[in-house]
Amino acid sequence: MLKRTSIFVFALMIMAFSLFNCATTGPGGKKSLILVSTADEVSIGQNMSKEVESQNKVIENPVVENYVDGIGQKLAKLSDRSDLQYHFKVLDSKEINAFACPGGFIYVYSGLLKTMDNEAQLAGVMAHEIGHVVARHSVKRLQQVLGLQVLLSIALGESSQLTQQAVGTGLTVILQGYSRDNEYEADYDGALYMTKAGYNPQGMIQLFQKFVAMEQDRKTTALDKLFESHPPSADRIARVQEEIKSFNLGDKPLNYGQEEYRKIKSLLK
Ligand SMILES: [Zn+2]
Repeated sequence: MLKRTSIFVFALMIMAFSLFNCATTGPGGKKSLILVSTADEVSIGQNMSKEVESQNKVIENPVVENYVDGIGQKLAKLSDRSDLQYHFKVLDSKEINAFACPGGFIYVYSGLLKTMDNEAQLAGVMAHEIGHVVARHSVKRLQQVLGLQVLLSIALGESSQLTQQAVGTGLTVILQGYSRDNEYEADYDGALYMTKAGYNPQGMIQLFQKFVAMEQDRKTTALDKLFESHPPSADRIARVQEEIKSFNLGDKPLNYGQEEYRKIKSLLK
């Protein structure tokens, strides 16, 4: 009898658990079971972002900062996870990449900004990173690699050497990128969010085309991390082109924002 009661209690616990932890993780009301609460995820992101900013130089030009943050906030508001407080910053580095820590802390390298030539391309990158945040790709991946207990010790901001090491490992994991399916999902979400914000999703395609050219050229090592962590750009172009067709854009006016972008680019050294 006791056994049956405990099985019942256990079943109730599982039910309660899944009810409370089913989060929206994509467009169309897509749901996933997430074990880390949003509050913990934000704390994890905060502690990881401290580490990012101690290791990198953040660009502190108010015009550039406001521009990048403004585009990011506009996209985040239209995303499927608009309840988070997002932070968008530019890191001073030749690296051609961008990444998102858990909880909405998103970084773009100035090297990437310099390779782009319009606002729609930048919106494409930022919306892709927002897509990773919406789908909780980083917390899911970190939980796989570090385990839930270590991950929650980062959320608590424990100062032990072990937790500090875990933050470092966590950052490496995030920079390694995610599975191909996760990357394609972030591309889809990103293309959708940028279009909702009024940007021409062809901006994302233009950027992938640049990557294809750079892949063939192979003169730069600044792209190595991006290529290691993301699917081949030609595959991403083919997929996103198909997805854009499904958006049924009609005559919706969509922008590239070339002039605005040129001004900002001239401010980068
Ligand atoms: Zn990605």
